[in-house]
Parts: sequence; C-alpha cells; structure tokens
Amino acid sequence: MNMQYSSKQQLREQLVRTSGQAPLTLTPTSQSIMTSPTLAIHEAVASRRAAGHDTLHLGFGEASFPLHPLLKTALAEAAPHTGYAPVAGIPALRQAIAAYLTSKRQIPFTSDQIIVGPGSKALLFTLLQVLDGDILLPLPSWVSYAPMAHLAGKRVIGVQADPHDHHRLNPDRLSQAVSQARQEGAHPRILLVNSPHNPTGSMFDHATLEALACWARDNGITLISDEIYAELAHGWREHISPARFYPEGTIITGGLSKAFAAGGWRLGFAALPSTEAGARAMVALCALASEIWSAASTPVQEAATVAFSQHEAIESSVQRSAHVYGYVTDQLYQTLRQLDVLCPRPAGGFYLYPDFSPWRSVLRSRGVETSQDLAHYLLAEWDTATLPGTAFQEEPTALRLRLATSALCEPRPAVSDEEREAALFHLLDQEETLFERRPAFPLLERAQTFWTAFIRDL
Ligand code: PMP
Repeated sequence: MNMQYSSKQQLREQLVRTSGQAPLTLTPTSQSIMTSPTLAIHEAVASRRAAGHDTLHLGFGEASFPLHPLLKTALAEAAPHTGYAPVAGIPALRQAIAAYLTSKRQIPFTSDQIIVGPGSKALLFTLLQVLDGDILLPLPSWVSYAPMAHLAGKRVIGVQADPHDHHRLNPDRLSQAVSQARQEGAHPRILLVNSPHNPTGSMFDHATLEALACWARDNGITLISDEIYAELAHGWREHISPARFYPEGTIITGGLSKAFAAGGWRLGFAALPSTEAGARAMVALCALASEIWSAASTPVQEAATVAFSQHEAIESSVQRSAHVYGYVTDQLYQTLRQLDVLCPRPAGGFYLYPDFSPWRSVLRSRGVETSQDLAHYLLAEWDTATLPGTAFQEEPTALRLRLATSALCEPRPAVSDEEREAALFHLLDQEETLFERRPAFPLLERAQTFWTAFIRDL
C-alpha cells in the first residue's frame, strides 16, 4: 500500500479527483460497439408499453410457440445435474447433433466434429476469433456479424446481394469484391452465408448454393453457413446446406433458438469439417471456450439431446410451426404486394424486408431521409416498431425495414400464459387445415390494417 495515503478512502478520493472518471476507463473498442439493435428495440418497446403505448412490435424475431412438453420434462429431470459439462459438450448431445445433421443435411457427421456452446451467437463470435483472414458479408446481413468481425480485428467486405432475385449471391460479384479488397490491402478468407435469411426471409436455391460452394472452394475461402432457421423453411423452397457441395471448407452453425423455440436456453452448435484443419479449428475453439464460458449449461444440454433426437412428435411440431410462420408471413407479404410495396417473397423464418423507396419524396416531406428516420417515424407517429436497413449494414438512404412476423402468430389475445400456450398448441394441432379455415390472427390483421393505412396516407 502507498504510505502517502492514510486510509483506503483517501486513496479512492484522490484517484477520482485526479482522473475524473477513474477507475472505470473504457477501451475504444467497447465504445465503438452499441447494444445490438434487435435487443435495443425490444427494450424500447417494453418501456413504451409500460408507459401505456399499445405498440405493434414487428422489431424482434423471437420464436413464438411454446416449448414442446417433452423438452420441458427433459429439462426438469436434468435440473439436479449441476456439475460442469465437458467444454465441447456432453457426448450424448454431440452424438445427437451429428446424427441429426447427417440425416437432415445428407452429409455424414461424427460427434467429434460438433461443439456446443451458449447460443450460436457465442460460437460465431468465437469462430471469427479463431479463423484467419477478413470476411465477406453478403448485404444486407444479420445485425451481429459485422460487430463480431470488428471485435475479431477483421475487415468487413460487404457484397450486395440481388434484392430483385431472392438476394441471390453472384460468384462474379464475389470475385470482384475479393479483387478490390485485395487491392485495398485486405485478406478475404471467410464468406458468411445465412439461409433462410435474417433480415429478408429469402432462401438460396440449389443452383446458387452449389455455385457459391464451388466458388469458395476455387478461391480458398472458408464458408460459415449460419443455419439457425434451417428447420423453418416455409415449404416452397428446400433448405440445402452448402456443406453438401463443399464439406471440407464449410462450418455449419445452428441451435435451439428458432425451430425449438428456446432462445432463452442459450444452446447452439457448430459443426466443423472432418479434416485435419477442422480438427485443429476444434482444438482452438475449445481452448477459447474453456477460457470464456467453460461449457454450456448441463441441464440444457441434456434437454437439447432430446430436441435433436429426431423424436417424431417434436419433428412434427417443428414442421407445423414452420408452416404457421409461413402462412402468417405470407399473408402480410400479400398485403404489402397489393399496396405495391417492393418486398422479396419470404421462403423461411419469420421476416419480411419491404422497400419504401417509391415513396422517397413524400417521406422526405415528413422529415424521413433514411431507413433509421423511417423506423423512428413509424414508432413515434404510428406506434409500430420495426428495424431499419442500417441495422443490417445497408446504406442509410436505402429505405428498407425489417419486419419480424413471429409475434403475429397469436391466435387471440390471451388473458394468461396458460391460455396463450393452450391456444398456440391448438393452432399447431390444426395447422393442416390452416389454408381452408383461414382463422383470424388479430395481430396479423392489425399489422395488415396498419400498413394499408400508412401507405394510403403517403
Ligand atoms: N444467426 C441469426 C441469423 C439470428 O437471427 C440469430 C438470432 N436472432 C442468431 C444467429 C443467434 O442465435 P442464438 O440464439 O443461437 O445465439
């Protein structure tokens, strides 16, 4: 202890006097990262609602169906298992995920290729820490990829996908982006793709995926395929992993958050190639994981083993929920198209990505120049929460918004959680007759009415 000060209190006071903000000085990196826009809008809506605003929430993409009862029981039974799990995950879960991917993606996987962690977000972050090189990101791209890349010290090379063609990624455009990036001193070695896609709801078709995978192989690029929405394809386009065409160079990520409606359980996985390089990446990932989160929650891993066990009842429930998301999302898409709003046709997940650029001049007269202005305007004037295209790395003047449709699946306003759960289970049971019955979804109707009124007002 420094003897100049007679007490700890005096030392503390002196520190505060001399450094103003001490002892909490922040790094420049921490100050360059904002709260993820999806979480920020969710919190903004919660405080608006607490203040009495009846806000229509199209800002947060959270799975809306209740947990499958088999998973609920599995978690309850696993609760006493309080010990730490192995860093890469419990063997039964790694085995179940390997078997699941082998069957669903039609590529053989073994359990030593699988690592589980607290959400696929944490695994994507860690992957970007261990993989060398800069990153090619198709635009628009999910909110967290670019901040994660920046935190990993990587340059982000945005590659515009074609908004008029299901956000198709063109290999020529990728090659141009790579050449330009190299001229500017970058070293692009990773391409991160996401299909079904957040924010657009688009999915790559077979030919595009094959072309992308071939391009990546020819150019020595590692593919990260974020397949968190894979099970939520609406039915008119099949989910195909690029790993089918480029298994030695593709890393798949996924988890429980969307299809199994358990985002709060924080359980994700990464599946690495069955090559020597894949094994080395696994060692590096486990080393980082061991220093950061040690292991994902043991009871959650045990319950997740049941989720990935391909149990018929769980599989059927996931498939039915995908169809309901598809139905509701398509209904809102049809409304937007009837209003002449440009919007890619949704193929999977629970998002729409409309483009309001035809109304640019009238919106300007209301003070709206950017997608962020538009999102603010809709929240302040129409009590409707959306996310602006800028959150997805789009140019500010691209007047696009992401609408999350998962909250619109509520069959009726529920008085209690039990009632809400029962209504959603009933909806899943009746999914097969959805198109004949066309039941009312009050929040969907509200969203349809709102967009109609908003566009007519322009
Ligand atoms: N990727 C995408 C495209 C997502 O939308 C999300 C969640 N919003 C994630 C990854 C993260 O999922 P997890 O809950 O597994 O961390």
